[in-house]
Amino acid sequence: MSFSGVVGQDSAVTVLERSLAAHRVAHAYLFTGIEGCGKRTTALAFIEAIFCGRAEGCGSCPSCRKMASGQHPDLHLVEPDGAFIKIDQIRELQRQLALRPYEAPRKGCIIEAADRLHPAAANALLKTLEEPPGNAVLILLSPNPAGVLPTIISRCQQLRFASLPQETVERLVLAGGVEQEAARVAASLSEGSMAKALEIVNGAALEERARFIETVCSLSVNDAGRIFAFSEAFDKQKDKAAGMLDMLQSFLRDVLLRLGGSPEIVNCDLAPLVEQVAGHNSLDEVMGKIGTVTTMQQALQRNVNPRLAMETLVMRLANT
Ligand SMILES: [Zn+2]
Repeated sequence: MSFSGVVGQDSAVTVLERSLAAHRVAHAYLFTGIEGCGKRTTALAFIEAIFCGRAEGCGSCPSCRKMASGQHPDLHLVEPDGAFIKIDQIRELQRQLALRPYEAPRKGCIIEAADRLHPAAANALLKTLEEPPGNAVLILLSPNPAGVLPTIISRCQQLRFASLPQETVERLVLAGGVEQEAARVAASLSEGSMAKALEIVNGAALEERARFIETVCSLSVNDAGRIFAFSEAFDKQKDKAAGMLDMLQSFLRDVLLRLGGSPEIVNCDLAPLVEQVAGHNSLDEVMGKIGTVTTMQQALQRNVNPRLAMETLVMRLANT
């Protein structure tokens, strides 16, 4: 994957291309930006170009072909083993980097989720970042730079990656053969992350969200049994509950838009339901519901039991 395969990250790519052209490649980089915005693809393209020796990476030499198949012996990937990147993984990396490259001019290394380096592993890495053996290039990736130790950050050239524009995500999802409507909804819920958009279209997420929203809109306060059964599904599943609340929030904002007369809604596949809820609720009522969802989102962040949060939420949103 050369730089031409990187979408929506022109400024980061320009910086890297210039450093290649000027033969001023740094020892260590830190790429930051949300999950799924292209940090890893860019890191691979950069290392491919360094290995190939041509500015873009030619894409056809043996080195580029090995990079494309993920089989290059001089490329080292490190990612968390469980919750952390452990010190043993960093020691192993250091052992590898100390060996001469097999065929590339220097070795390349990508460390995923640098915010999840165990403190001992991070400390062990400091010296390597300053003076990588054999002039190796290390690229650290992180969606959460606030979680990366300042001593690590200060030793890296930091490049910020932007979230992808919604149109870009939609175009990329469409190119993958997804239907227009699903692509649009996934892109609008993706928050600029290709990974999140693909998760939405590939998994059952879109349908699950539709069922969730339809159920919430159909429950009545007299349905205590149904409400409990519905909430049960979120028992101990904080991430799932949080994801569904985000989607419900997006739906309610569409209802608000509809009440304001806007034809532009995000959840276009649920347009009839948006219409229906807008017909039964006043602007104030919808604002109140959005406020309720926000309160529950905050409660979840404070580690309230997800099932309880969902029960409370649905009780408050249920039709009287
Ligand atoms: Zn090449």
